[in-house]
Amino acid sequence: MSSPQGDIALIGLAVMGQNLILNMNDHGFVVVAYNRTVSKVDDFLANEAKGTKVIGAKSLEDMVAKLKKPRRVMLLVKAGDAVDAFIDKLVPLLEKGDIIIDGGNSEYNDSIRRCKALKEKGMLFVGSGVSGGEDGARYGPSLMPGGAEDAWPAIKDIFQSISAKVGSEPCCDWVGPEGAGHFVKMVHNGIEYGDMQLICEAYSLMKDALGMSHDEMGKVLDTWNKSELESFLIEITRDILNFKDTDGKPLVEKILDSAGQKGTGKWTAISALDYGVPVTLIGEAVFARCLSSLKTERVAASKEISGPDPKFTGDKQSFINDIRQALYASKIVSYAQGFMLMRETAKEFKWKLNMGAIALMWRGGCIIRSVFLGNIKQAFDKNPDLSNLLLDSFFKTEIQKSQDAWRRVVSQAVLRGIPTPAFSTALAFFDGYRSENLPANLIQAQRDYFGAHTYERLDKPGTFVHTNWTGHG
Ligand code: NAP
Repeated sequence: MSSPQGDIALIGLAVMGQNLILNMNDHGFVVVAYNRTVSKVDDFLANEAKGTKVIGAKSLEDMVAKLKKPRRVMLLVKAGDAVDAFIDKLVPLLEKGDIIIDGGNSEYNDSIRRCKALKEKGMLFVGSGVSGGEDGARYGPSLMPGGAEDAWPAIKDIFQSISAKVGSEPCCDWVGPEGAGHFVKMVHNGIEYGDMQLICEAYSLMKDALGMSHDEMGKVLDTWNKSELESFLIEITRDILNFKDTDGKPLVEKILDSAGQKGTGKWTAISALDYGVPVTLIGEAVFARCLSSLKTERVAASKEISGPDPKFTGDKQSFINDIRQALYASKIVSYAQGFMLMRETAKEFKWKLNMGAIALMWRGGCIIRSVFLGNIKQAFDKNPDLSNLLLDSFFKTEIQKSQDAWRRVVSQAVLRGIPTPAFSTALAFFDGYRSENLPANLIQAQRDYFGAHTYERLDKPGTFVHTNWTGHG
C-alpha cells in the first residue's frame, strides 16, 4: 500500500471550506476533502477542484487513512453541535498527538471545553478564527489560531502560507492557549460592528444634516480612504454609495433599514459585562442594530413624536472635516476598548496574549483591515505592556488633535436630533477615562444609605461601615 499523501484534511465543503482548500492547494499542500453529505465531495472534485491535487474521501475512516502523521484535520462546519459531532466521530479514528482544528465561528468557551477534553485524550485541539469571508478564504484570510500550543509547529507552515500578508509578514500567528484564538476572533467581530456603526453615523450626518447627494458622499469617502481612515470598510462604503440601481437611483436607499446580526457582537458585549470592562462602543453598536430592527414601531413613533430640524446651517466643508475627525477619534476609543477587553480576559484565564501580533493579524485579510492597525502594531512594538492605547504617544496626540471637532459633531448631532450613539458613547468614555474624579463617590454613598454597603474614603485608609445618613437614632 502506498504511503499517505495528505498534508491536512478539511471537513466542510460549504463556501469557506472549499475556498480554504483551494488556497491550501495553491500553496502546494495536499488536502483531503470530506463533507457530511458525501456527494458534495464528488461535486467539488469534478468542478471547483478539477485539475488540483485535492484528494476526496468517502468516509472519515478513508479520510484519516489518507493523512500523513501527525494527522491534521480542520473543520469548517456550522458552529455548535456539528463541531462536537465531528470531534466525537474523529476521536476513535485518531491517535495521540494528532491535531483537530476548528476554523468555524465557534464560541470561545466551547473551544476551551474542547481543548481540555481532547488534551485528556492526548490529542491537540486548535480553535482558529478565520476572517475575510469567501474571498479571504480563497486568497488570504486573517487567521487567529489558539489552543494546544504543541500543535503550532505542525500547522504553522500551512497557516502562515495561506494567510494574508502585509509586505512579507503573514496575518497569522499563535494567539494563545485554549479558547484564545476564538476569543480574539470574537473581539475582531465586535470591533467590526463598531466600525460599521461609526461609518453609518458619518453617513447619516452627511445625508440628513448636510443634505449631501450620494455622489458627493462617495467622493468624500474616497478622500477619507486616502487618509488615516484608509480601510476595507471605508472602501466598500464608498462603492456602495456610488452604486446605482437600474433606475439610476442609489440602491442603498432602497434597502430596508433593519440590520441583522449573527451574535458575535453580542458575545463581545456580554464578555465585556462578564469581565467588567467598559466596551461601550461595541455595546452601542449592537443596540443600534436592535433599535433598527424595530422598524414597525419606529414608523409608528415617527408619526407621534417630533424632534428638531436636522439641517445643519454652518460651513459644510468644515463640518465634513469635523465628521472625519469624530470618526477617527471614536475609532481610536473603540480599539482601545477592544484591547482593554482582551487584556482583562487574558488576566482572567492566565493567557499571555501578544497584542502587537493580534494587531498584525488584523492588519490584512480580514474585514477590519486598515492602515490604522499598523499604528496599533507599532504602539505595542514600542511597549508590549502598554496598558491602554489612549496612553500611547501617537494615539494620545491623534485623539487630542481631533477632540474639538469630535465635540462639535456630537453637539450638532444632539441639537439636530440625529442619533449618533457610537460617536457619543466614545466621547463619554474618553471624558470618563481622562477624569481623575467621577461622581461614583455619590453612588457609593447612595449604596451605603440604602444597603449598608460600606465605602472607602479619600482622606483616610480603611473601609467605613454604614453611616447613619439621616442623623436619626
Ligand atoms: P456553513 O453554512 O456555516 O456550514 C455548512 C457546512 O456545515 C456544510 O459542510 C454542512 O454539511 C456542515 N454541517 C451543517 N450542519 C451539520 C451537522 N449537524 N453535522 C455535520 N455537518 C454539518 O458554512 P460556511 O459559511 O462555509 O462557514 C463555515 C464556518 O466558518 C462556520 O462556522 C462559519 O460561521 C464560519 N465562517 C464563515 C464565514 C463566511 O463568510 N461564510 C466567515 C468566517 C467564518 P452538509 O453539506 O452535509 O450540510
